[in-house]
Amino acid sequence: MCNWTASGATDVGRVRASNEDAFAVEAAEGIFVVADGMGGHAAGEVASRLAVERIVAALKAAGGGDGSGERMSRALDEANRAIVEAAGDPERRGMGTTATVLHRRAGSSRYVIGHVGDSRAYRLRNGELRQLTRDQTWVQRQVDAGLLPAEQARGHPYSNVLVQALGLEGRVSPEVVDGTAEDGDLFLLCSDGLTAMLDDEEIQVVLSGGRNGDLDALCRELVERANERGGVDNVTVVVVRVEGDAGA
Ligand code: CA
Repeated sequence: MCNWTASGATDVGRVRASNEDAFAVEAAEGIFVVADGMGGHAAGEVASRLAVERIVAALKAAGGGDGSGERMSRALDEANRAIVEAAGDPERRGMGTTATVLHRRAGSSRYVIGHVGDSRAYRLRNGELRQLTRDQTWVQRQVDAGLLPAEQARGHPYSNVLVQALGLEGRVSPEVVDGTAEDGDLFLLCSDGLTAMLDDEEIQVVLSGGRNGDLDALCRELVERANERGGVDNVTVVVVRVEGDAGA
């Protein structure tokens, strides 16, 4: 039987006054979410928390069943509409949030990832780190179009300009990908407060070092390293470990 265990951590960082990130770890239901709010203090906190709550509720209500991509899109769409509605309050105008979601298909090794914005999902398999999501940023679009060399993407002055986020418009077009987990896989969901401070190579080293260790300690180490590098943003990580064969 395939067993998924997980841990998460969030930290305000070294520069910001408040933490607008939010996350959820619902290991029993196989639901994992990271959201990075924007729109200023109270608004960003509201948006990310609302997104996490609505996504978890929508996926739970769907009953864990087939973990389909359609269900994931609907969950993100529901969260989007809830935030748009809440943003009707003048104090919260312009609030939005990213959301990166990992949902395990009940009792199997299949999973679906849903994604809006620039938080990321990674998978470490056999020591190799792979980014499973594509940043929905202006900079990434320039790279994809061949207008900007990939190595100039990190630290680019426009790196935080998002192409879309939850809560800003009536409709969103989430990226949805699915896959099959294997024994020993480690998934990482994170906000850009981690990836702005640590490159993929360092993330790979940390995750590889923690493969047989304690997931809480692994999350703390990622957060500490982001803070040691400057901690310029809120940093949030969720780490999920897959153990055993699942069949199906
Ligand atoms: Ca951020």
